[in-house]
Amino acid sequence: MKAEILAVGTEILLGDIVNTNAQYIAKRLADLGITVYHQSVVGDNPERLLEAYRLAFSRADLVITTGGLGPTKDDLTKEVAFEYFGKKSVVHEASLKIIEDYFKKSNRVMVESNKKQAYFPVDAVILPNNNGTAPGCIIEENKKIVVLLPGPPFEMKPMFEESVVPYLKKFEQGVLVSKVLRVIGVGESSAAEMIGDILDTQTNPTVAPYAKEGEVTFRITSKANTYDEGIKLMEPMEAEIRSRLGNDNIYGEGNVTLESVLCEMLVNKKLTISTAESCTGGMVAAALISYPGISSVFMEGAVTYTNDAKINRLGVKKETLDKYGAVSSEVAAEMALGIAKTAGTSIGISTTGIAGPGGGSDEKPVGLVYVGLYINNQVKTKMLKLSGDRQKVRARATKQLLDWVRRELL
Ligand code: ATP
Repeated sequence: MKAEILAVGTEILLGDIVNTNAQYIAKRLADLGITVYHQSVVGDNPERLLEAYRLAFSRADLVITTGGLGPTKDDLTKEVAFEYFGKKSVVHEASLKIIEDYFKKSNRVMVESNKKQAYFPVDAVILPNNNGTAPGCIIEENKKIVVLLPGPPFEMKPMFEESVVPYLKKFEQGVLVSKVLRVIGVGESSAAEMIGDILDTQTNPTVAPYAKEGEVTFRITSKANTYDEGIKLMEPMEAEIRSRLGNDNIYGEGNVTLESVLCEMLVNKKLTISTAESCTGGMVAAALISYPGISSVFMEGAVTYTNDAKINRLGVKKETLDKYGAVSSEVAAEMALGIAKTAGTSIGISTTGIAGPGGGSDEKPVGLVYVGLYINNQVKTKMLKLSGDRQKVRARATKQLLDWVRRELL
């Protein structure tokens, strides 16, 4: 079965609201194994709405709409659907009673136009709305089905789950199973090149790369009769992708974050950690502290922005600062060592760099960041050359440092 999602509302066309309903429904239809080839949006205009139904039904068997079930004149989704199917509507007494009770209970006066929400063709399946006044409905005619849902997500979602999902189960054609692999340290184009032949020849399972904030994710999706079959089907492809990209570069699966993976390792290994930050100004500490349960290993984070702070708080030597400058491998090393020693932790990490937009030179350009890592009684540093504006440089430095620590702990 092919489905199309049709969101009705001028607000969406104008960009005043985001079409989160389509996102929700698309995801749920995928879970049910129902194929969606098109999503569309149309304003509150009867001619264009009728045209949208015609187009949608020319390429899909099931059209799910959201929005436009309200009492006002420009709420037309239902009326135009009835027109499309050539159906007359009559008052649905049970729905009318519910709407009347709803107004009584909330001490509001019910106006004549609210009655419009209780009109349906006699053969429509009515979908009760437990969170608002507008019931939804399903109309089936000549193997074409329209499902009309209200616009507000807090009304649409429960209606979808309680009434539409059970109805759609009879059309279920297997399931789509997906798995997301999270990759760091390999750029999107290199990653795509490494598995280029897989991307070119994929059928079932499929694989889709997606790049975001210095990371690449690969979503592997298989279509099968059952969830277990779907998982089995994707195993060989997952193994191949893992071996090509390198297991070290795949930091996790699903919804995990880099910091949660690292923090879990720190907690499990009972390794205490402290941070000394300059250009990242607390972002590294904040990333670690976002993990619930980190208190057993995170001891202290210092933002030491000036030279004096680096000297007084961390014990960085004045001579080192004078000789190499604050943004240097030597200072990063003394910062990491200094925080670990004074906070009494097994690991100390540091950042010092030029986030820009000013402050760069030929020798030390904007985007140059040194990160330091004290671990196993040794201190090491890394030079990073990062691109982007001030916030990107800071975010990328944070991520690369966290990833470095993760790799050291593998
Ligand atoms: P009501 O019965 O409350 O009038 P309705 O079915 O007529 O609902 P609309 O009037 O079209 O729905 O939209 C009501 C509100 O629902 C919008 O202002 C918006 O906040 C939300 N909404 C509508 N469509 C969407 C959508 N596609 N995605 C996310 N939110 C939406």
